[in-house]
Amino acid sequence: MSSESGTPGDRRKIGPFADDLSAFMDGFHGDVILPSDHRYEDARQIWNGMIDRSPAIIAQCDGTADVVDAVTFARNHDLQVSVRGGGHNVSGSAICEDGLVIDLSQMNAVFVDPETKRARVQGGATIGDVDRETQLFGLATALGVVSATGIAGLTLNGGIGHLRREYGLSLDNLASVEIVTADGTVRTASPDEHSDLFWAVRGGGGNFGVVTSFEYQLHEVGPEVNALFVLHPGDEATTALHAFHDYTKSAARESSVLAFTIVVPEMEEFPESAWGEPAVAFLGCYDGDRTSASEEFSALRDATTPIADLSGPMDYTTLQTMLDEDYPDGLRYYWKATYVEGLSDDIIDLIERYGYDSPSSLSTVDIWHLGGAISDVAPDETAFWHRKSRYMITFEANWEDPAMDDENVAWVRDGIAELRGMAGTSGAYGNFPGFGEDPSQTMFGSNYDRLAEIKAKYDPENLFNLNQNVLPAE
Ligand code: FAD
Repeated sequence: MSSESGTPGDRRKIGPFADDLSAFMDGFHGDVILPSDHRYEDARQIWNGMIDRSPAIIAQCDGTADVVDAVTFARNHDLQVSVRGGGHNVSGSAICEDGLVIDLSQMNAVFVDPETKRARVQGGATIGDVDRETQLFGLATALGVVSATGIAGLTLNGGIGHLRREYGLSLDNLASVEIVTADGTVRTASPDEHSDLFWAVRGGGGNFGVVTSFEYQLHEVGPEVNALFVLHPGDEATTALHAFHDYTKSAARESSVLAFTIVVPEMEEFPESAWGEPAVAFLGCYDGDRTSASEEFSALRDATTPIADLSGPMDYTTLQTMLDEDYPDGLRYYWKATYVEGLSDDIIDLIERYGYDSPSSLSTVDIWHLGGAISDVAPDETAFWHRKSRYMITFEANWEDPAMDDENVAWVRDGIAELRGMAGTSGAYGNFPGFGEDPSQTMFGSNYDRLAEIKAKYDPENLFNLNQNVLPAE
């Protein structure tokens, strides 16, 4: 499908390859959007309002053949490429400056086979797209906790959600992927075909090609699960966080809990007297029977006299959308994470210090309890290296005012730097990468060299480099 062209903006950006562009656009089934197109402004926006980039071409693909054409066009014209799945990575790596965006947002179909308990999901789908279709059959796979997030970036870099300790990372639930590699070839990667590539895409991010579909293993989940959502007062944060630490030492595998600092929002679910006050929240899911749930979560609910306790049976899809409105499109965001072995007194102190002294009342410091099924897999079994850490701590700066950009970014960087200076901390997570400034080795650990060999085989010219980039081995 074509787009208007010929404005000065178009000529500046596409002049060098204008002759071949018409043929590319004529053959394309999706939309090719150039700077002159009235849809361009919308098409270049992503979730993070900090990102303001102007690509030369946005190729909104309609299917795998469009992806092949876009990869081939970019390679033949030596264009910078970015790949957009759900457009939710905080680094903004979905959008490039002056190059070609391979945009999969229109490719969001989900096909569920309840017999085999498998789902085939196109590369532009969101978590909400998948949950909606799989829950029709009482099934789900392990994804993240906000429904607008893209499954592509989430899965390729890990995938940590409410089912993580029971069913592992999102990538642990992959049975296969269909991927278009840099030479324009469509390949299946699975344990039986291109198994090296299958190893690499499970944790290696977008380094190895454009994944046009993901095949997930599904599990019986819902329609109701046991949700935990309790807010404890900030002046008892130390007591609450120590209760969380104790709880995690013997938590059930079917239970995954996240603790975070928060300023109580002005919402009717919370008492008005607490609005604007600091608090500690526990949010979690127990995928077991109801009676054991009240026992499982009692220490967390009773840690103090809570501000609010909304725990109880809840539709799985309700739990999966509970945080959605906290992360609107276009707000300003900067997030980073690191892994920790244990929650020492010093680490708990740091979480409280930063959590209650952030430049924005929308920001949080989060502790994700890991382990369980995530740790069953050896660090070199997939490209995802950080398997053995018991927690991941994330600094999430969320703010509105562009004049506060520097303060918010500095708050995250200072907090993470101080944390990484403490004993028992390591690594980084590709789904919370700041602006991608940490060396890729921080994420891939000792898997880096094997990733570099596989990169040299499937993407020797490093066409796919807007990611936590792995350089092809020489
Ligand atoms: P995009 O920005 O579209 O893509 C990011 C990168 O992934 C691209 O630059 C590219 O390198 C690669 N990529 C994307 N699509 C493809 C594809 N089809 N083929 C090849 N490469 C591709 N993470 C968690 O683990 N758990 C959570 O609960 C969680 N919650 C979140 C909540 C919110 C509100 C947000 C914004 C993020 C959350 N994240 C979470 C982080 C999230 O997993 C990452 O931001 C993830 O990268 C988003 O994927 P995406 O497809 O939307 O990203």
